[in-house]
Amino acid sequence: MCVRAFAPAFACRSNLCLIPRTSVSHPSTYSPQISRRAVITIILDTSPQKDHYTLLGIPRTADVGTVKRAYHAFLLRSHPDRQHTASPASVSASTSPSPAPASADSVDIGRAKDAYHVLSTPALRAQYDAELVRVQKAAGPRPANVISLEEFEEDGSGEVLMWTHPCRCGGVYRVSEADLETGRHLVGCGSCSEVVWVGFEVVEDEKGDEEG
Ligand SMILES: [Zn+2]
Repeated sequence: MCVRAFAPAFACRSNLCLIPRTSVSHPSTYSPQISRRAVITIILDTSPQKDHYTLLGIPRTADVGTVKRAYHAFLLRSHPDRQHTASPASVSASTSPSPAPASADSVDIGRAKDAYHVLSTPALRAQYDAELVRVQKAAGPRPANVISLEEFEEDGSGEVLMWTHPCRCGGVYRVSEADLETGRHLVGCGSCSEVVWVGFEVVEDEKGDEEG
């Protein structure tokens, strides 16, 4: 048995997110260490469907002024012109050292606009908040993030193969091979209450794949 990272159908569980995210698959040439037991291809990035608050990086209690400032800050960060004006004359077109994920940005800008509109309109916001609470209750423990198994670091030093990933609290998310084999995706931080959704897929070993 081995595991393979995959993108869940992260269409939003409700209508909270208006723009479904398209996951890009890139069959990854993975490290030989992992492939001795596991075939892992990675098709997740680390951006889950964020709710409006998470997207703008503000708390649920943020007032309208805060929402507005966060939205403007978001636009400034994301605006393509912004990224080009940093050093106007120095960058030639041929070799750009910092490839910006332009398409992802434009999607995010659309979502940020939507987030700003909803959160700065009291009636819409109340409706949105209620729906958010409802969805999160229904969904159980809410992963703070989606992290592909590729983002984890393999740790083969112990008796069992483990994968670890640092939590922003300074703690560690830890997944064992057994966890992967039982299809456990929700992994809690060892030090705080944060939970992440780990992207992978368990697949049966292929038998007789001796081609080539
Ligand atoms: Zn933590």
